[in-house]
Amino acid sequence: MAPFGFPQAQWDRVKEEVREILIAYAQAQLVVSYADLVEEVRTVRFEVRDARLFTILEEISMKEHAAGRGMLSALVICKRNGMSPGAGFLELAARLGRDTRNVELCWIEELKRVCDSWELPLLDPKMIAPQEEERPGEERRARSSWGLPFASVLAAVGNVLGWLMPGIFKNQEIPQESSEEKKDPPVWKEPVLEGGEQKQGLSPVYPLDTAQRVALVAALLQYGKAVEDDPIFTTDPQANTFLLENPFAFLLGVIADQGIPAERAWQFPYELCQRLGHLDPERISKNRATVVAAIKASPALHRYVEKMGNWVVLAALRIWSLHGGRAEGRWNDTPTAAVLQERLCQFPGIGQKKAAMAVEILERHLHVPISRLCGSDIAYDRHIRRVFLRTCLAERDDRDHMIAVARELYPSRPGALDDPAWRVGRQWCHARQPDCGSCLLTSICPKQIDRAKTVGAD
Ligand code: SF4
Repeated sequence: MAPFGFPQAQWDRVKEEVREILIAYAQAQLVVSYADLVEEVRTVRFEVRDARLFTILEEISMKEHAAGRGMLSALVICKRNGMSPGAGFLELAARLGRDTRNVELCWIEELKRVCDSWELPLLDPKMIAPQEEERPGEERRARSSWGLPFASVLAAVGNVLGWLMPGIFKNQEIPQESSEEKKDPPVWKEPVLEGGEQKQGLSPVYPLDTAQRVALVAALLQYGKAVEDDPIFTTDPQANTFLLENPFAFLLGVIADQGIPAERAWQFPYELCQRLGHLDPERISKNRATVVAAIKASPALHRYVEKMGNWVVLAALRIWSLHGGRAEGRWNDTPTAAVLQERLCQFPGIGQKKAAMAVEILERHLHVPISRLCGSDIAYDRHIRRVFLRTCLAERDDRDHMIAVARELYPSRPGALDDPAWRVGRQWCHARQPDCGSCLLTSICPKQIDRAKTVGAD
């Protein structure tokens, strides 16, 4: 008989499930809270502070240690305890001969062993905090090298913990309506020229007046209305239908929109399904190696094979464990736009940009009922940034500022500006040679081309 009166076979099944979940997190270079872990276990219902779970984690880690691998329980953290590993981890680490005098260092060293065990040579911050393109002026955080001397590793502990934190927040419980109340929208302030001096980043020639701003917004909204039945996915009708009819495919298309053209990202779920022979979240969540091989096979489906494989597997794991494999479970309860955006952001690989875009597409093209569209947002996307800067709708290239501008411009549904601005940016407002003559905004746009020079190329 196994501990806690479990039949041995059942105990072993639960243990294997927990181990598989932790391996998926390890491969995606994410930590997981106790609260999220118990949500994902299906073979038995655990409480957050469940002695049975602690025992299972201990047994898993002892077995991993015996096999020469890192303790998987290092991945499980306690939110209430300052986002650090539980006491059980340290106790076992000491019993297994680890040096626990410096708790953080001990933990980091163990995470290193786990990464090494699963063929991840180092923790890549871009995988742990997989947001959008880097923001202008934002310094790329240095990679952590586990080969650093002892003192340097110590100095890097703070950074490494910082990188791990977004992973934690990626795995919070589904936010409820109340979370919208806490949203603290940034405030858009009118550009002010003091003493005749030019404010940094603001065109002195074209500070838009209200009439110009209204005209620009009206033109964008009208264009958005005109194209609302014409989603831009791919040129392949079968791939498009697949996205519209398979919610998990749609979710993977959103996740794949990273570092490759949008059409290729939307094609990704269909092609992956063709190669795997299915797009079943349960099977995908259990076969990471097969998924990675399918993405990698020539021609590769994505620029980032390993990272995308991890994101796909983690998305599948979450959809399978929380929604029984039905991705629409993420949005079929008529959530508010703000809540849905937060829910989407919980998937590794989805940040503000993709989540805001997805909310709009779900409502417009997949006809998903979403309430309180006043809580929708524009995506901080390079096409939209160029248009907002060159039209002078935005004062500066800053994500919070642009989101606030859209909220101010069209409070009843800020996200309605997303699709038309994106299309204008993509079709006419190119980075190098904007086609102002053909652009639908040409008669009202001040055409401040240089203001978008901080934005990357197409
Ligand atoms: S008129 Fe020119 S600068 Fe203005 S949005 Fe169109 S392409 Fe961009």
